[in-house]
Amino acid sequence: MPAVFMGHGSPMLALEESDRTRALTRLGERIVERHGRPKAALMVSAHWFTPGWLVQTEEEPEQVYDMYGFPQELYDFKYPVKGSPELGRRVLGLAGEGFAVEEDVERSWGIDHGAWTTLCHLFPKADVPVVQLSVSRAAGLAASYEAGRRLAALRDEGYLLLASGNVVHNLYRVNWGMPEEGYDWARRFDGAVRDLVLSRDDERLLHADELADYKRAAPTPEHFLPLEYVLGATEGEVPEVLNDVCDLGAVSMTSYAFGV
Ligand code: ZN
Repeated sequence: MPAVFMGHGSPMLALEESDRTRALTRLGERIVERHGRPKAALMVSAHWFTPGWLVQTEEEPEQVYDMYGFPQELYDFKYPVKGSPELGRRVLGLAGEGFAVEEDVERSWGIDHGAWTTLCHLFPKADVPVVQLSVSRAAGLAASYEAGRRLAALRDEGYLLLASGNVVHNLYRVNWGMPEEGYDWARRFDGAVRDLVLSRDDERLLHADELADYKRAAPTPEHFLPLEYVLGATEGEVPEVLNDVCDLGAVSMTSYAFGV
């Protein structure tokens, strides 16, 4: 099964119909055509940033509306996806040194907007169950990549590996007057990362925080880190690039699909 990093942009993406949402829908169709319907998808979401790793094992995860100040229709939007206790337990089975993942026994979270704003385009019928894995605050770039290496085993078992975040995500600099545009530094950083991903220079990607503009592109790491999970799970594979545009000045939508 493939592994895909999806840039998620503004939550309004859920209600959008555009080239970038159609690219996600087409990607979902191609995954099913070529690999069959995934048993379930593991989603590493930037919006579940926890002290250590947590994974869901719920049959019926709740949809979480973790965004503020958007139009009511976004809060009325439903993505009625099932969970997969089997996949959640399988992820727990991959735990070990360097990947201390625990079950979210308190059911503290659900399917958040980082996940459903992209999933609703990738699988519009919500017919692929989803399990979220949190992004661990305790894991930096390299440890997140190592976690991805562990997760690679899932791909051979019929599970799709997804991660939702943004290569460039600086909410302090977001400019709503710049739809589908990026500041120079944002485009520069997004392009530098794209070149490194396409040439599989994982060594430099593991030290992305040493790249020029990293601090402006990722003032907090949670939106960048999901990319490391996907890189770790796809060692040596060269992805196709989708939606490589910036948005709102300081966000990039660039997405990477491996093994489609
Ligand atoms: Zn986000």
